[in-house]
Amino acid sequence: MKAIEAFYPLLRAPKKIIITTHQKPDGDAMGSSLGLYHFLIKLRHDVTVISPTNWADFLDWLPGADKVIDFEAKKDTAIAFIQSAEILFCLDFNVLHRTKHLEKYIDAATGVKVLIDHHEQPQIAAFQFGISNTGKSSTCEMVYDFIMQSEQPELLDTTIATCLYTGTMTDTGSFRFPATTASVHRMVAHFKDLGLEHTPIHDNIYDSFLENRLRFIGNALLNRMDVLYEYNTAVMAILREDIIHYDIKTGDTEGLVNYLLTIKNIKFGAIVIDRNEERKWSFRSKGDFDVNIFARQHFEGGGHKNAAGGRSSDTLEKTLAHFYQVLPEYKEVLR
Ligand code: 5GP
Ligand code: MN
Repeated sequence: MKAIEAFYPLLRAPKKIIITTHQKPDGDAMGSSLGLYHFLIKLRHDVTVISPTNWADFLDWLPGADKVIDFEAKKDTAIAFIQSAEILFCLDFNVLHRTKHLEKYIDAATGVKVLIDHHEQPQIAAFQFGISNTGKSSTCEMVYDFIMQSEQPELLDTTIATCLYTGTMTDTGSFRFPATTASVHRMVAHFKDLGLEHTPIHDNIYDSFLENRLRFIGNALLNRMDVLYEYNTAVMAILREDIIHYDIKTGDTEGLVNYLLTIKNIKFGAIVIDRNEERKWSFRSKGDFDVNIFARQHFEGGGHKNAAGGRSSDTLEKTLAHFYQVLPEYKEVLR
């Protein structure tokens, strides 16, 4: 994977470009993809954003979200774009399998593949150019840097800023996590100077849910949470019947894991959701406990030191039993 500086000249003449990201894209995945999309459109490229799956309703207001192709809904169209793309941007993931059923098409694509991502252990052989920096708050911040270091940084506008602010906000827990550096705040100051209105973004993301989601969370906190003080750990298991009863959709469970870390002294929060196709884990930690390693070792996953995900094809009972079985190995570091 070559450094991104060598890539910029390829943007001088109009190209067919696709931008893709991880399955079930979150705020950072959608925000970075759409921020880059609007920038490349201004550079007069022919650009299409392809998501491997659908996304949460609370991201639908993002400028350009209506033009994003959901691969699962429009497979043939998406494949044609991937096959004819001269450049493929891969954002907010660094191992191809995170694009789910899109993986084989991205892998086989002949266009130039460019990575922009902040997760641990990138599959660098899969990309010709790229930036991988685990110290960055978000892929949105990296797209901002990419634009600022490009040949036309003056093209940054409030539409691009809106997209990039969104993902930086969601990936930093609203500018709270340790990766929220002075550079992040300087970027936001730049967005404000351009005229960005940030309050509507917070409202759109955090205050636009339906009543059923709040009742679902109430039930989860009351009946589905187990606090293991011995390990400073809290674990939550969401049953399939909960998903059905509360009519839970993509995105409704996002952020639920963070409640676990609001309990004093809890350093490790884990939530498993019994989805149809798999048991999906979300892990969060505070301090030294590395959930990226934990997810990789036990649940076919990965991510960052303090935020990672994983999966299991076992039953909910078995995957939970596995969690309880391995937890004592970490007693010292969780103390
Ligand atoms: P979440 O719990 O919000 O789904 O994911 C937390 C973080 O871990 C995100 O940065 C996400 O991209 C990453 N992540 C989630 N699941 C996986 C996985 O299965 N593999 C890897 N490598 N990263 C994951
Ligand atoms: Mn991210």
